[in-house]
Amino acid sequence: MTWYDEMTWCDGCGVEITWGPVLDGERIYCCRDCSQGILCACGERMEIDEDQRLGKGSHSLVDQF
Ligand SMILES: [Zn+2]
Ligand SMILES: [Zn+2]
Repeated sequence: MTWYDEMTWCDGCGVEITWGPVLDGERIYCCRDCSQGILCACGERMEIDEDQRLGKGSHSLVDQF
């Protein structure tokens, strides 16, 4: 499947979906909460994820130098 090669954003909160999206007709949501108009924490989860990646990245850069 080439599903994850395409960039997908939630039609509700606009977060980039890097996991299995929730489909509602032609709309794509990050989770069931979002498809029902409920605020969700998917965006926060992604930010935390990026922070951890940045931390690891800077550490490996330091190791290389
Ligand atoms: Zn959403
Ligand atoms: Zn969500």
